[in-house]
Amino acid sequence: MIGFDLSEHQEQIKAEAAEFAAKYITPRAAEIDKTDESPVDIWQAMSKAPFQYTGMNIPAAYKGQPRPILDQLIIIEEITAVGKSPVSTILLQITGLGTATVVNNASEALKKKYLPVVASGQKMGAYGLTEPGTGSDAAALKCKARRDGDVYVIDGRKRYISFAHESAYIIVFAQTESTGENRGISAFIVPAATPGFRVVERVSCMGLKGHQDEELEFKACRIPAENLIGEEGKGLSYALRSLDQTRTTLNAGFIGLARACVEESVSYAKARKTFGKELYHRQSLSFPLAEVAAKIDAARLMNFKAGWLHDRGEKHTVETAKAKTLATRVMLEAVDLAVEIHGGFGCTTRHIVERYYRDARIWSFAQGTPEMMDYLISRDLFGKYDL
Ligand SMILES: Cc1cc2nc3c(=O)[nH]c(=O)nc-3n(C[C@H](O)[C@H](O)[C@H](O)COP(=O)(O)OP(=O)(O)OC[C@H]3O[C@@H](n4cnc5c(N)ncnc54)[C@H](O)[C@@H]3O)c2cc1C
Repeated sequence: MIGFDLSEHQEQIKAEAAEFAAKYITPRAAEIDKTDESPVDIWQAMSKAPFQYTGMNIPAAYKGQPRPILDQLIIIEEITAVGKSPVSTILLQITGLGTATVVNNASEALKKKYLPVVASGQKMGAYGLTEPGTGSDAAALKCKARRDGDVYVIDGRKRYISFAHESAYIIVFAQTESTGENRGISAFIVPAATPGFRVVERVSCMGLKGHQDEELEFKACRIPAENLIGEEGKGLSYALRSLDQTRTTLNAGFIGLARACVEESVSYAKARKTFGKELYHRQSLSFPLAEVAAKIDAARLMNFKAGWLHDRGEKHTVETAKAKTLATRVMLEAVDLAVEIHGGFGCTTRHIVERYYRDARIWSFAQGTPEMMDYLISRDLFGKYDL
């Protein structure tokens, strides 16, 4: 049975998300872009009833308020489109990226200790996979973890770790051996206050202001052996499993931003006249916009399928990759077209599409580029596909 209507409950959470965005995010969006300060106030508002978004990926046993991924997709698209601040969407994303590996693979003791901190909105959790030398080729990471009696000693660097400076802990992926099926990568929880760990630098980006490229250093950083997540050598598979989930929710953000661009473009094209006619009569502008609108609907439907599979407990790596490659490309097309339709005005800070353009350009690299998604799809098509 295939249905396309939202249930009464889904309509309600959609309306609630729009209300949250209009109250807490939209009024702050332009200011965050100017100050480049992390919107921690929005994170804290997300933790409050009736929203409780900070706990939406955390089981009730650890003080979370879990929501199915399909519900999250509806919430995230709405918050992005109405909130007009994609950096705030990254906060929603962090609720999964910074917890999924712990929820899926960590010991009871680690879950009890760390998950309630995120669920309550006290602090965030960070996901540390990318390094200065590795991004798309994550399996080649160089960060090392060496067992020394009751502790692991971690040495290495991470970069581009979202909101690490606001996090209670970092999930660190590090090599415990140099070979093995999963390349000897293991996952650890490094509490933020551990000696030997520091945020070295926060580099401002062209867009998504309020989110920075954070570089982390681990220098003889000693953590208790029980902070190993799951089993040694399985970290890479844990990392990839988490990404299947969080890429799906990220797609909803990309779709929300593309939708916001279409909305801005439609209202501008109706209001602006050239040569005595409103812009929307110009098919060189309105037909590409029609194509973008069609692709947004296609990406949303594909992504709903990925979320539906997730909620049924089925694997959805390829479905999510297909939705991500399409969602990323349509977001980039939508921002480019929005600026085109707004003309020179669209390139000034007087119009929001200028910011959307900068936001989308950087956001498109997060959690695996479209090329890496094409690789996953090719691997599925051809059975084997070496890069
Ligand atoms: C907003 C944002 C938030 C992020 N947050 C986090 C976080 O919290 N934690 C974390 O661990 N990381 C995070 N990242 C890092 C992100 O995962 C990486 O940026 C991403 O994986 C790409 O890696 P890279 O930037 O090093 O690009 P590279 O891997 O160096 O790639 C550069 C370019 O080459 C292309 N390319 C690479 N290899 C191939 C190939 N074989 N074939 C074809 N094309 C190829 C890529 O598609 C890309 O266009 C974040 C990034 C962004 C932008």
